[in-house]
Amino acid sequence: MEMVDKLSLKTNISMFSMISAFGERLEFDKSLAPLTSFKTGGKAAYFISVNSEDEMVRIIKETQKLKIHFFLIGGGSNLLISDNGFDGLIIKVEIMNLSLDDSNTINCGAGVNLMDLINYTSNNSLTGLEFATGIWGTVGGAIYGNAGAYGGEIGDVVTDVTLVDPKGNIRTVDRDYCQFRYRDSYLKKTKEIITSARLKLIKGDKKSIKSKIDEILALRSDKHPDKRTCGCFFKNIPDHKAKYGKLPAGKLLEEIGAKKMSVGGAKIFDKHANMIINSGNATSADISKLAELLKQKVFDKFGIELEEEVTRLGKFN
Ligand SMILES: Cc1cc2nc3c(=O)[nH]c(=O)nc-3n(C[C@H](O)[C@H](O)[C@H](O)COP(=O)(O)OP(=O)(O)OC[C@H]3O[C@@H](n4cnc5c(N)ncnc54)[C@H](O)[C@@H]3O)c2cc1C
Repeated sequence: MEMVDKLSLKTNISMFSMISAFGERLEFDKSLAPLTSFKTGGKAAYFISVNSEDEMVRIIKETQKLKIHFFLIGGGSNLLISDNGFDGLIIKVEIMNLSLDDSNTINCGAGVNLMDLINYTSNNSLTGLEFATGIWGTVGGAIYGNAGAYGGEIGDVVTDVTLVDPKGNIRTVDRDYCQFRYRDSYLKKTKEIITSARLKLIKGDKKSIKSKIDEILALRSDKHPDKRTCGCFFKNIPDHKAKYGKLPAGKLLEEIGAKKMSVGGAKIFDKHANMIINSGNATSADISKLAELLKQKVFDKFGIELEEEVTRLGKFN
């Protein structure tokens, strides 16, 4: 009951109005930590998972009518959520359709797990997405941040994307609209919601696709922690002389002694200086403080300002 009063104070909307607008599946006071790969962060006032484009349009229109802030979550593998949580609606994208449009084009819901998509491509003898093997999260999250590895980026294979704008209008745009750049896309500016995408690949040999996937999985299992991280915390630095045109942030972090640094339960993974891990009892504040410390030390030593790859939600000191 205390929660009901708190919610009505926060938003001036009764629980009853919220349920009539968003339906019985709406959850209140939802813990967000289990939904992130860091396993940190506070609660959301409201939470709903959405599993179709039509439902997304309807939900977004309701947020407009009721003037409720919303934030999207996919796999939660690139998110640092404040310990104070989020005083609005978290929408978990669970649009899961996955089918072949023609022999080499895949139609994919934004909620599909990226690894499920990669297995689907290999089962259909389609090559071009193997580089993304082992990247956590959903297709929507990957497109939003143009996820990539080993010289490839998801934007390279996207042909078009279906979006819902913050007012609830739906449309399909081509790849040029998305302006994919290194860990970036125009969708970060427009705040549009990705509901599905089409990806164009090339017919290949199933056996060699599978062996490339296995090779990358082995490389990753050797170099990456298997839990409680968001992968690389900072972006690499543009450098035309370096491999893939980027100077690894991890190299600079190694040189400032990052691997020996920690704040509370936030530590640096011992095999990769650009990976912050929650060693068990970290808070988001610990992770944030450690990140600030790392940035300061890199700036003091190299004059370079590290840019975060991770998306933050909520207030941090
Ligand atoms: C062990 C590990 C290794 C990793 N390795 C890599 C790597 O090699 N390369 C790499 O690029 N990343 C890597 N990552 C980071 C992460 O996996 C990617 O950034 C991933 O694409 C995030 O997807 P997600 O669904 O988890 O997004 P989330 O973390 O849920 O969200 C990230 C952002 O995307 C937005 N978003 C999510 N879904 C949608 C949608 N449908 N429409 C619009 N916006 C949306 C969210 O609002 C948020 O701003 C790694 C992470 C881990 C844990």
